Amino acid sequence: MQCPYCGRAESRVVDTRATGDGIRRRRECQTCRKRFTTSEQISEALLIVKRDGRREPFDRHKLLQSIRLACAKRPIAMADIERIVDQIEEHIFSLGKAELRSEVIGQQLLEKLKALDPLAYIRFAIVYLELEDVEALRRELDRLMTDRR
Ligand SMILES: [Zn+2]
Repeated sequence: MQCPYCGRAESRVVDTRATGDGIRRRRECQTCRKRFTTSEQISEALLIVKRDGRREPFDRHKLLQSIRLACAKRPIAMADIERIVDQIEEHIFSLGKAELRSEVIGQQLLEKLKALDPLAYIRFAIVYLELEDVEALRRELDRLMTDRR
């Protein structure tokens, strides 16, 4: 989202509010720190296609919650979590699609968490990748350790 003052693209969402016909966001520019408001129409809302084929509107709050859960009790700042949500949100909306498979978001999130905090990554992976047993978890841990070397 481009800053109307300095034109830079990096901004942070400081507040999100549903209005009658859309969503209003208060953003803060990462460069000049000025704040501005953007609004999105409901008609532009992105539908997420779940694994079982059900569709539901993209929910920023839900994404934030799942990251917070994975990051619980880890030394991770709320600002870092919000930055990840911002990045994922910007990315999926920039694709310009009406529908998106939930895996696209899941994969993005896995990548971001892997870079942020290995334990948060594993917590999310256990649920998301449906690691069914200790053996599957061990393989994922092996892969993670190899990647970090
Ligand atoms: Zn700016």
